[in-house]
Amino acid sequence: MQKSTKTRIERIFHNTDYRRVFKEIGIAFREQGDSLWFNCIYPRHKESKPSTSITFDPYSEYCGIFHCFGCKRSGTIVDIIREKYHNSFWEALLWLEARLDYDGFIYDYNIKNNIKKIEKITLPEEFTSPPTLEEWPTKYRNYIKKRNISHYHTLKYNIGYCSEGKYRNMIIIPVTLGNNLVTWIGRHVNRKIITGPKNGGQGLFGSNYLIKPKEYPAILVEGWADKIRMENFGYDNVMSIQTNKLSENQFNFLLGKNFPYIVVIPDNDSGGKVLIDSLQKYIEYIPIYIGKIESKDPGESTEEELDYVMENLEEWNPTCEEKEIDVEY
Ligand SMILES: [Zn+2]
Repeated sequence: MQKSTKTRIERIFHNTDYRRVFKEIGIAFREQGDSLWFNCIYPRHKESKPSTSITFDPYSEYCGIFHCFGCKRSGTIVDIIREKYHNSFWEALLWLEARLDYDGFIYDYNIKNNIKKIEKITLPEEFTSPPTLEEWPTKYRNYIKKRNISHYHTLKYNIGYCSEGKYRNMIIIPVTLGNNLVTWIGRHVNRKIITGPKNGGQGLFGSNYLIKPKEYPAILVEGWADKIRMENFGYDNVMSIQTNKLSENQFNFLLGKNFPYIVVIPDNDSGGKVLIDSLQKYIEYIPIYIGKIESKDPGESTEEELDYVMENLEEWNPTCEEKEIDVEY
């Protein structure tokens, strides 16, 4: 179901922003050529002058690999994260994966001379995302737990918070289009305040973890918490659009992934109807099915209700009248 581990690791090695990761985990470094030099990460090798180097040139086969010239130990960026947070290999992998391209730093390492630049979006300077929820201050942890979001999701989607600065008291949810960070959502922990860069409608929360998109449909919901709820119920390829209009950017991304069809589960309100209407211009390109819920939104639905909705989808039509359609999963 997941990409092979080797591909995932290579993707991490070649796409990590090493300077930023080192800053985040508090490793002081000196840059020289294509390498960062820093003090040995292993506690048993105490040193005052950096004798470890890691290559960050994405075109080098050694990218992401470090070597200590003092104690002669080598390893990878994954080992550095493990040593720092005492976490498992998989946790370290997810930690790094969640940070890929988080500074708008994007290129395809296979296409050497065709580096794609995207609009640079950065998370707030004070953004932080400790690797385990136990390390989160109570108010932020409670906000997350109340929505059934686990440590696994915060790692996977790099969800964090700002405890100081302009976005103090806010949970920060990065929104990507594929692997590119295109915007983020700030949710105040106890007030109804939503903020973020004016890039709404550009990203699809969850689009960085798609499973066999040529076989399984894209499932679109309006909110990021709705997406996580459906993911918890076992639905893959659920993405949230954050608004009630599917933008051309979002649609083009979905079209490029060759999904067999798209399922849209709008909120059960007037905004949801606007969303359904906004889909009309896309139906000539790909079949679109609508899942109608009785609850307020998918985030409030039970697993049984969502299963029922997914088994009783209706093909998009202007009025969305009751119509029996057999859909295979
Ligand atoms: Zn060493």
